[in-house]
Amino acid sequence: MSDCIFCKIAKGEIPSKTLYEDENFRVILDLGPVARGHALILPKEHAANLFELPEETAAAAFVLAKKMAGIMREKLKCDGLNLLQNNGETAGQTVNHFHIHVIPRYQEDGQHIGFVPGEPSQEELEEVRKEITA
Ligand code: 5GP
Ligand code: ZN
Repeated sequence: MSDCIFCKIAKGEIPSKTLYEDENFRVILDLGPVARGHALILPKEHAANLFELPEETAAAAFVLAKKMAGIMREKLKCDGLNLLQNNGETAGQTVNHFHIHVIPRYQEDGQHIGFVPGEPSQEELEEVRKEITA
C-alpha cells in the first residue's frame, strides 16, 4: 500500500513519536490526542481494518495493547484507559490501516467516550440474537 500513511509511519518512512517498536508493530503518539498519552498501535503489515486483519496479528495486537495499558498506568498515572478500534467510515474510521487507540484517561480530562444506550424490547433482542447465531 504505497499511498497509505500508516504503512509509511509503521515502517519508519515518515517520522513519528514512537513509544515502542518491534518486528511486527509500531506504537506511536496520536497527532490529535483526546487525552495525554493517546497512542496508536499500528501493525507494520497493511490491513485496512479488523475484517482484513490476520487472526495472528489480531491476537498479538491485543497482547501489545495490554502491555501498553500497563505502561500508561505506571508512567502517566492515568486513572483509567479506553481501547478503541474503528472499522469503516460509519464507525468513525478515518485512516484505512488497522489501528488500536490506547487512550489513557484522567479524572478531569473532560472527555466523554461512550454510546447512547438503546432500549430494545425482549423481542427485538431475541430477533437479533437469532440472526447472529443462525
Ligand atoms: P480513526 O478515526 O481512523 O480510528 O483514527 C485515526 C487517528 O489517527 C486519529 O486519532 C488521528 O488523530 C490520527 N492521525 C491521523 N493522521 C496521523 C498522522 O499522520 N500521525 C499520527 N501520529 N496520527 C495521525
Ligand atoms: Zn497501510
